[in-house]
Amino acid sequence: MSKIEISRRNFLHNINQIAQKTQSVEKIALVLKDNAYGHGLGIVASLAKEAGIRHAVVRTMAEAWAVHPHFETVLVLSDTPVSDPGEKIRRVVNDRRQLESVPKGTRIELKFDTGMHRNGLDPACFHEAIETADGRGLKLSGVMTHHRSADMMGSEFFWQKKRFDALREEGERVGLRGVRWHSCNSAALMRSNGFDEDLARIGIAAYGCLQMPPPFHTPPLKPVMSLWAERIASREVTPAMRIGYGGEGQMAKAGIVSTYDIGYGDGWFRGDASRPYRLPDGRAIIGRVSMDAFSLEGDDERVCLFADAAEAAAQFGTIAYDVMVKLSPMIERIVV
Ligand SMILES: *Cc1c(COP(=O)(O)O)cnc(C)c1O
Repeated sequence: MSKIEISRRNFLHNINQIAQKTQSVEKIALVLKDNAYGHGLGIVASLAKEAGIRHAVVRTMAEAWAVHPHFETVLVLSDTPVSDPGEKIRRVVNDRRQLESVPKGTRIELKFDTGMHRNGLDPACFHEAIETADGRGLKLSGVMTHHRSADMMGSEFFWQKKRFDALREEGERVGLRGVRWHSCNSAALMRSNGFDEDLARIGIAAYGCLQMPPPFHTPPLKPVMSLWAERIASREVTPAMRIGYGGEGQMAKAGIVSTYDIGYGDGWFRGDASRPYRLPDGRAIIGRVSMDAFSLEGDDERVCLFADAAEAAAQFGTIAYDVMVKLSPMIERIVV
């Protein structure tokens, strides 16, 4: 059957590189949302623990329940709040409505909108938000923001950071305690010289697919995930034979064609048969991708669809995140 291989060595290498930027592995909060960017929630949680990572960020309560034994804290980005989720689990408050509705006693981290204008409270309401949290018996344990374009050239990263630093100074001035401050995702961390926050929320860099345009310098990260398909059947083909749905894959010459057990039903892209996907070894998929299969010249038992999701993504005009998270949780993940 098809498989996703997770390289333990590459993951640990990436964490090591990232920890040099944060100056400590303890300052990495590993982002495990969406099945750990498709890598497998349980697998990555275990690898994270092995790497000494203490904090996790997830999207849902279900993910938080699944991984909390591995971590000291788990931050839930957005889900319906439940009362008393336990010591370790904190939830992000994304707007005023949530601030007023999360159950009393919840550990919260306030997200402020410093310029992305997606989630987060208005920084002008900083004091009011703290008072509301306090008045409602919420346990404020963090203040955070999110960068909208840390991976792009321009000043936006700096002005968002400046706004966040201003909030932090304000928090320190009023004597906020027991609160962790964090603004960085992977790209923002790579742009930070002298990282000075309590935590960095790291996703794509840990998985080895961070792409930053020049002149940004990124440490040598290595892709953790590779996707492998297994042969279903082989046949001899004659010139002009047309392969697959719609007969779009026309053979130029005689040879051997095999089908492999990955298709769009596995979360692989169906793409456009007139601009076929090319495997890392240079071979192009023949004709249309089916629900559970694609065709290729040759008869190898096993073929690698990608060893770097960023390269695969470039062929589909998308980003590595998109390729990785779409891969079906039903595909077996193995640590190699
Ligand atoms: C997904 C996410 C991250 C991680 O971003 P990467 O670019 O993958 O490092 C960090 N913070 C928040 C709020 C996120 O939603």
